[in-house]
Amino acid sequence: MLSAPCALLDHLMKQITDSKQLQDVLGKLKRRRKTIGFVPTMGALHEGHLSLVRKSRKQNDITVVSIFVNPTQFGPKEDFKKYPRPLRKDSVLLKKAEVNFIFTPTPEGMYPEGLEKKGLSPAMKAALSLTKNLCGKFRPGHFEGVMIVVEKLFRIVQPSRAYFGAKDYQQAAVIQKMNEGLPFKIKIYVEPTIREKDGLAMSSRNQYLSPEERKRALAVSQTLFEVRRKILAGEKNLKKPISEAHRKLALSVDSVQYLEIVDPETLKPLSKVQKKMVVLTACYVGKTRLIDNVIIRTS
Ligand code: AMP
Repeated sequence: MLSAPCALLDHLMKQITDSKQLQDVLGKLKRRRKTIGFVPTMGALHEGHLSLVRKSRKQNDITVVSIFVNPTQFGPKEDFKKYPRPLRKDSVLLKKAEVNFIFTPTPEGMYPEGLEKKGLSPAMKAALSLTKNLCGKFRPGHFEGVMIVVEKLFRIVQPSRAYFGAKDYQQAAVIQKMNEGLPFKIKIYVEPTIREKDGLAMSSRNQYLSPEERKRALAVSQTLFEVRRKILAGEKNLKKPISEAHRKLALSVDSVQYLEIVDPETLKPLSKVQKKMVVLTACYVGKTRLIDNVIIRTS
């Protein structure tokens, strides 16, 4: 049950940039037994992010949303510089959603030691086996950067609960695994992917798409739904629907990095049908890299 309101919460959202200041104010709230829900984001918010915020609001006294475009999870040729940063618009959305704190650290504040990735903690090392295939194969160092920043954010916020989207399936799996080895006792929730009406998974990167690319991007979710439909219709050989789907998807998008069916926990590729599976893809439409996935439950 949520506890009664207190004077520290005057219903105005506060933006905090300094991690020490955030820790102080959250410390006071924790001493009053307030529960803290945390939603880490890179901003350019959409309904996917807001669904996580709503879940946190429901389950906790206080909701903290971080907005930080994390340099260490971008490769040298990736879109770190051009990643959208509409902070004013994001603040309006978060205020409307009745978020209590928005944490907007600077790269210097998060990485006083510099951006070079040095040594992973044992908790991170335990999750490394989940970073080898799928996106990890095409974005070397990406999940190390994600783990480093999420561990730092967890250390600062130390929430009761943290919320992630199933849209970034591999990321959620890696974070859950890392969290098992961390000393903070945070409960992680992975929430369903929010889609546009036509099925395209919402993403901050969708705004890079031209109208023509936006039309072609629709093939991404349609391909995944088609694979699921075939398997639920009784297809036993997983290779067949995947190779057909791969061929068809390649006609609409500019390149397909991977299209695979894997075990939902180990993320290892499957050749045989099992109760629960995930089909995932990453592809380029123009210069925009899109990822999506769909869970397949056969019973
Ligand atoms: P990002 O700002 O892209 O780092 O995403 C922040 C959080 O929002 C991550 O946990 C994402 O998985 C989640 N998220 C992004 N897009 C969606 C979506 N379409 N539906 C649900 N969650 C999402």
